Amino acid sequence: MVACVPMTTLLINSIYRATEGEGIHIGIPQIFVRFQGCHIGCVNCDSKETWDFDPATTKNLDEVMEEVEVLSQDIIKRVSITGGDPLHPSHIPSLIELIKELKARNYYINIEAAGTRIVKDVFDMVDFISYDVKTPSTEVRTSPELLLRFVNEYGTKAQVKAVVADKKDFETVFDAFHFVKKNNGPVVPWCLTPCYEPEEKFPMQRFQAVVKMNEDFGLPFRVIGQQHKWMFGSEAKQV
Ligand code: SF4
Repeated sequence: MVACVPMTTLLINSIYRATEGEGIHIGIPQIFVRFQGCHIGCVNCDSKETWDFDPATTKNLDEVMEEVEVLSQDIIKRVSITGGDPLHPSHIPSLIELIKELKARNYYINIEAAGTRIVKDVFDMVDFISYDVKTPSTEVRTSPELLLRFVNEYGTKAQVKAVVADKKDFETVFDAFHFVKKNNGPVVPWCLTPCYEPEEKFPMQRFQAVVKMNEDFGLPFRVIGQQHKWMFGSEAKQV
């Protein structure tokens, strides 16, 4: 009798090709695999359509890989796994299967981490981790102790990223930066993303204010906006 192997299924919001729109890899062409489902609840989330763990979005691993390979054309060997929250515990078994399959086909893998958990099995396998520091405007908190543990364990292949809407947000990131420094954490790239809300016109003054705060506080950060929003508007999807 042949044993029946359960098929790996994933909740997927979308799979598409675009250039990285933010952080230190901005402008690099890649394939985005966006998971469906997030319980973190940032109030200024620009992807609220990804929140529901909607079983109607189920795809099996073969279907996901086929879409990735069609988009890749064996030219773009780079995948960014995002969400939603790809690190939600219910996603982990299928996420690990996806990563194994991508690695077997020589893809470079970035994962977008919301800054609320460290998932060793995943972080050990991927090539790069973009780790959020959640700011007060999100109404979600990133634990400084968890952040310190993260940079100590994964700082050689990571960036720390924070969306900044105002001075309170900036100061929160600055405090986290100093907490890491004070505790002899390694130097990693820290990127500030000036907040660019859906339905908002390009917030030039906020960008300038964030750059100015960075200057006033001794230039600890890189300020990198969301290029895809400049190009296509703040509400465009799959760009
Ligand atoms: S973690 Fe990401 S998807 Fe989830 S609420 Fe926050 S910004 Fe939105």
